This record gives sequence, C-alpha cells and structure tokens, in this order.
Amino acid sequence: MGKQETKYWIARRRPGTLRFEPPSERMIASNDDVDGGNGYFSLALDVAGDGVVEWDLTQQVVAFSARWCELMGLPAVSMVATVEAWERLVHQDDAAMLFATLNGLTAACPRTELSYRVRCADASYKRMTLRATLVCDANGVRTRILAWQNDRPTPSTSRASLGELRDDAASPLAGQLLMTERLDAVVAQTRREGRSNFVMLAIDVDGFTAISASYGKEAANRLLAAVGERLRSCVHPLDTVARYGCDEFCVLLRCSSDSPLATTVSEQIQRALADPFMLEGRAVAVSVSVGIARVLPTHYCAADVSRDAYAAVHHAKMSGGNQCALFDDGMHETTKARLQLEAELRHAFERGQFRLHYQPIVSCVTGALVSLEALIRWEHPTRGCLPPSAFLDVLASTGLLNDVGRWIVGEACRQLATWRKAGACDAYISINVSPMQLVEQGFIEDVVAILAETGASPGWIAFEITEDLALGDTEIAMRALIKLREHGIRVRIDDFGTGYSSLSYLQRLPVGGLKIDRTFLEQFESDAHRRAIVGAIIQLAHVLGVDVVAEGVERREQLEELRVLNCDLVQGYFLSPPLSSDGIRQWIERRTLSS
Ligand code: C2E
Ligand code: CA
Ligand code: CA
Repeated sequence: MGKQETKYWIARRRPGTLRFEPPSERMIASNDDVDGGNGYFSLALDVAGDGVVEWDLTQQVVAFSARWCELMGLPAVSMVATVEAWERLVHQDDAAMLFATLNGLTAACPRTELSYRVRCADASYKRMTLRATLVCDANGVRTRILAWQNDRPTPSTSRASLGELRDDAASPLAGQLLMTERLDAVVAQTRREGRSNFVMLAIDVDGFTAISASYGKEAANRLLAAVGERLRSCVHPLDTVARYGCDEFCVLLRCSSDSPLATTVSEQIQRALADPFMLEGRAVAVSVSVGIARVLPTHYCAADVSRDAYAAVHHAKMSGGNQCALFDDGMHETTKARLQLEAELRHAFERGQFRLHYQPIVSCVTGALVSLEALIRWEHPTRGCLPPSAFLDVLASTGLLNDVGRWIVGEACRQLATWRKAGACDAYISINVSPMQLVEQGFIEDVVAILAETGASPGWIAFEITEDLALGDTEIAMRALIKLREHGIRVRIDDFGTGYSSLSYLQRLPVGGLKIDRTFLEQFESDAHRRAIVGAIIQLAHVLGVDVVAEGVERREQLEELRVLNCDLVQGYFLSPPLSSDGIRQWIERRTLSS
C-alpha cells in the first residue's frame, strides 16, 4: 500500500478540484484518508489497455487508474476525485445519461454498457465505451461501481468472462450480453458498408411495476417469461430476441431501409399480446410500448443504438403506452431532460432538498384542527420551490420514492413530536403513500421502526392511499392494509371517485375513511347533480362506518353546503393552503388567538 499511497491526489468534496498539475505534498492523500485503509483494489486492474474507475458510493469519491488518465491524454498517475469533478469532464449532452445509468444500477441489474464523450487534455472530446458493474455488500447495499473504459467501439476484454449473461435465466431468450455482442457486430458491419440493414425494437411492458407490486416479483417474472415466449413467436428464428435489463425486451431484425418490416413486426407483437395472460388464476391484460431505431453508419457501438431505441420507447410510453414509435432526433431532447431530472432528484435527496409542507384538515362541525396533510416540495437550488407534479412521477419510476417515502414518514413524525411537545397541536399527520410503496417489502416494518425511533405513536399518523386498479384486489395489498390496521395506523382512500373503487369495494377494504376528490367540489354550489352525488357518498360511507373528508374547499358556500350534507372533515384553500412548518405554527397561533 505504501507505494500506492503517494500516487493518489485528493480533491475530495471540493468543487472544481480535479487538477492535473503534479501532486504537491499537500495534495497527496493516504488511502486512510479516502477509504478507511481498504485501498482502491481495482486500480491494479488496468486490463488490456482499459482504464479503470472505481466509484465509492459510500464516500462519494472516484478513483481513476493511471491508464484511465492516459486515455484522456493526461499524465499517467492514479487519482482520487469528487464525482462532480468527473462530471465536469463529461460532455454536457452525455452527463445526465451516464450518471442516471450508473445511479440506476441495482443488485438485480448490476451491469451496463454505454458510450459517452469525455474531455481530453487538449480540450477535444473523445468517445469512450464504458462497461460498469455495481458491487453490493452482503446486505445488498450499493457500495461501489467499477467501470472499465476504452476508446474502441468494441470492448477488448472477453465478454465470455461474464458468460452468465449470455442467456436469460428465466426464458429461452438471449441475454443482454449476447444481444450486445450481436448489436456490436451489426453496428460494425453497418459502419463498414455505409448502409443500414438492421433495426432494433425496444419493448417495454406497460405498467409492469404495478403488476409486480400487485402480484409479487415471482409471479411477475413468470409473466415476463410468458411475454418473452410470445415475442419469440413473432419473429424469424434467425432474428435475436433478448431480455434486456430487468423488465424489458429487445429484438434485432434484419430489415433493409426501404422495407416496412419493423412496423409490421411491432404490430404483430401488439396482436400476439392481445390475449390476456393467466396469473394466479386471474386474467391479466398486458400491453407493450415499442420503440424502433434503425442501426445507422453513424452509430459507434451497441449502446448508441439502444439509446435511440429507448428514447423511442420512452416516447411511446409518454404517449399513453400500447403503441410503437419510430426514433427521431427530437426524442433525444426529451430523454435528456428526463435523465437530467432523474440525476438531479438523486442529488436532491442526498443533499436534503426535499421539504414537507402541511395543510390543515378541520372538523366540518366545530372547525377544530383534526389533521395536517404532509405534502412534499422540492427546494430546487435554481428553480425555487417545486410542487410534486414537477417530479413525483420521475421519483416513482426511478424507485427513489420508496426511500423518500421513508424519509417523509420520519420527517412528519419528528415535526409532529416537536409540535406536540410544545403543546401547539394534538392533530395527527396524514401522509400520502402510493400503492407501490405500500406493498414494498419491509415498508410497514420500517414505518413501525420510525414510529419507535421518533417516539410517535401509531395514532399520530394516517396514510392516504389513492385508489388504484390493483389495490385492494390482490392479496398482497389486502395483507398490507390489514397489517397497518393491526399496528393501529389509520388508512384513508384518497381521491375517492376518480378511480375504480366502488362503495362495495370499500366495504371489503380495511380502511377507516375516504377523501372525496376535489373535482367533485367544482361548481358544487350551482350543480345539484354533483351535490346529490357527494351527499350519497357521505351517507353510504357513514353506513359503512367510515369518515369522509372533502378536499378542495375554496369558498364559504362549499363549506356550508358540505355541513348540510353531513360531511365530517374539510380541507382546502378556503381554510388554508399547504404551509411550511413555521407557517403552520403561525396559523395555529392565529386561530388560538381569535377563538
Ligand atoms: P392530493 O393527495 O390530492 O393532495 C391535495 C392536493 O391539492 C395538493 O397538491 C394541495 O396543495 C392541493 N389543494 C389543497 N387544497 C386545494 C384547494 O382548495 N384547491 C385546489 N385547486 N387545490 C388544493 P400538491 O401539494 O401539489 O400535491 C399533489 C399530489 O401529489 C397530491 O395530491 C398527492 O397525490 C401527491 N403527493 C404530495 N405529496 C406527496 C407525498 O409526500 N408522497 C406521495 N406519495 N404523494 C404525494
Ligand atoms: Ca392526499
Ligand atoms: Ca386529490
């Protein structure tokens, strides 16, 4: 280790400090400084001309091998630097894609390959092929990302060493690796011939996370295998069909540029999947979004083609799913913006940029404060305070919402404990939880642990869960709701009336209340029909023994009408908009003074 120590330059956690002048005494870091004495073992692996980078996720430092530096025309010394310093070397059009992909690696999907542009010592940009592998500890916690890069389109080290990826374990399809090899070969051929004879179809199962949340991972995997079989039946035996990533497929087709084969095949695929699949004795309808990208002579490696195909599939998904989209250049902009947002959201969570605002829910009869609904906000460093509509979908699709969701529960409990201790209020907090969070393994246990940690009792919180096609209809969701009730945590159905729930379904669910969606209160005073619906919902809910909150009360007339209809609780701008914790404190004080 002693010899290696002198090789590291440290620029840790200081912005703008990836320096390339010779190391001075002051800049030399010992391994103990950066990783507790373990050393960056991977730096010894300057294999076959590849540069190696090791990203230590626990300390957020990156160590570059000497060869890595050399590839960029920099002095051949190993370095340790911040992630930000690395980011600044990456071409701005590629940075979001690179870091979102690396951040997106999971224990289930630990490997990736991509190409990106990096700034060299002479300020020119060089395209690199990068292969990365995530390393997790024994508890499955992400600890390091190891990446190899070189400036050749096809990686030099043998892929056979990663043999297990050649075939998909769960189905008779090719694995990601075999597909990448074939795609690399096709890209090389296309570049040589200067003409395009192949297309790639990226196929994504619509709403797969919801299916997985409702039926469990194992059943969902069986479903994917069955989908794979039907896909295989749609193409020529010589074409490649692969499982790509965790819940995606891709197809590589020979298809000359004047042939409409790609669209024909994607239509065939849509048709082949039209019949429902049987899962746990239930018929499950599956639709897919298909993105089509032609392999072009301008492509450099497999990753470039899949990037285009995935931009197209994303476009198909954003247009509502169950359709196919052909790649065009404009799609990169949309994908880039989304990847940028994903990367920013990860930083936002790590840097504590999320806040909770609280909106009072008061008794319709007495006007007393009964609950405070916690609503998430993002204090964006340049764009100001952002509402959930600006980021919640992306947060959910990256899987980050599960971690953020735990933070929300903890933060809300800590805040309420402070207020209660100060005697400011005895209300409970209403917390929004997506059905996906609810059925995530360990969520309820974590909530119970958070309650114990913060000294909160189960009666201090209520969960608001939106109605969802899957929720309540599956054993997993039902078990979660029953468990919550056993722990004494209230659950209310949110946005009632907008989804699929009926009052009979409500009877089966172990929930204590419902919240009528605010759309029912629009033109409420002048629309007798809407008033009648709201009145009927309130009466039936009372018969079923659950309470009713009306949200979106903006005018006194609405409030008065709701009182007549016997509504229990109300919430809306007329009473108070969502406020910061200080704002709520002041709101409570003002009301105490005026009462
Ligand atoms: P929601 O659960 O239906 O929350 C009520 C939304 O209506 C809030 O929007 C609130 O600011 C807004 N609102 C309240 N009173 C009125 C009113 O009188 N008139 C009108 N027009 N709007 C009113 P916000 O804060 O933008 O939240 C939007 C949605 O984002 C929430 O809808 C909820 O589904 C979701 N959300 C918010 N925070 C969280 C969270 O912490 N976790 C999860 N999973 N979802 C959250
Ligand atoms: Ca809500
Ligand atoms: Ca709502």
